[in-house]
Amino acid sequence: METLGVLMMCPMIPPYLEEELDKKCKLFRCWESSDKKEFLKQNSNSIRAIVGNVFVGADAETIEALPNLEIVSSFSVGLDKVDLGKCRERGIRVTNTPDVLTDDVADLAIGLILATLRRICESDRYVRSGLWMKKGDFKLTTKFTGKSVGIVGLGRIGLAIAKRAEAFSCPISYYSRSEKTDSKFKYYSSILDLAANCQILVVACPLTKETYHIINREVIEALGPKGVLVNIGRGPLVDEPELVSALVEGRLGGAGLDVFEHEPEPPEQLFGLDNVVLLPHVGSGTWETRKDMADLVIGNLEAHVLKKPLLTPVV
Ligand code: NAP
Repeated sequence: METLGVLMMCPMIPPYLEEELDKKCKLFRCWESSDKKEFLKQNSNSIRAIVGNVFVGADAETIEALPNLEIVSSFSVGLDKVDLGKCRERGIRVTNTPDVLTDDVADLAIGLILATLRRICESDRYVRSGLWMKKGDFKLTTKFTGKSVGIVGLGRIGLAIAKRAEAFSCPISYYSRSEKTDSKFKYYSSILDLAANCQILVVACPLTKETYHIINREVIEALGPKGVLVNIGRGPLVDEPELVSALVEGRLGGAGLDVFEHEPEPPEQLFGLDNVVLLPHVGSGTWETRKDMADLVIGNLEAHVLKKPLLTPVV
């Protein structure tokens, strides 16, 4: 792989991926230049691969600037930051990191549900600020076990969430474009019906043109003042101003959010609300999973160079 020119789009956590790419390939660090256009122009002949992530991928402009680009190996499962159409057009291969992160993201979704319903973060603040001593017992919260859970996108992560929620005796239902014939869970062909018939709605589908703002005002109204929304998919799946106003006005019961429309800038109106739990997009953020993801990124590049089948091809 030593001759493979790889453009890494931004620093990634942990540094393991960058260190390994540096050892194994000819690495170009996109963030080291303040003039990206000029940087790409100077190195355009050498770069044959792009490694991006959930924040910076391979947009049309970057792809067009690289005439020798052969593969985009993304350090993420979601490919909303990769121009897949452009890649198909140019015959550029695309890979992602499915499966290895599924458990972590599903674990975190359950964590968000519990934290939101049981007010774990608020309780923690109550203890740390001395209010327990001053004011006495904390208020009562809401039970998770047995609540109905609706899942938007019963894919790898959605299914892993469903399995975990089943262990909490939750009835599970889901919405996706097609009914999963091998699934025992109740299918709704309308997201509105799903939202109206569950108490906790978990968003776990990819961000595409069709799913942008799939959680809109109507869906939020259908979930209602006792309902809880959990988003571990992507921020733009939710119409965020609508979500904020519903939470502020008490038209939605609560929200657990790992992702936001404009990261890393979640809406400040949410900061003062105790019925929301806010996380900095950390679904796959464990040492174990990030190492497995990095190995998959490298494995795909190696397979490409050796002309072997790619490990996790998308395009
Ligand atoms: P997956 O296995 O491909 O599952 C995606 C599911 O979404 C499928 O069930 C699919 O079913 C459904 N879907 C696709 N388009 C849809 C549409 N237009 N309307 C309704 N449902 C639709 O993907 P995954 O591995 O579970 O990952 C799902 C997403 O989670 C990723 O794309 C990524 O954005 C997000 N994610 C977030 C984090 C994080 O850190 N928070 C980490 C990893 C992944 P149909 O084809 O039947 O519609």
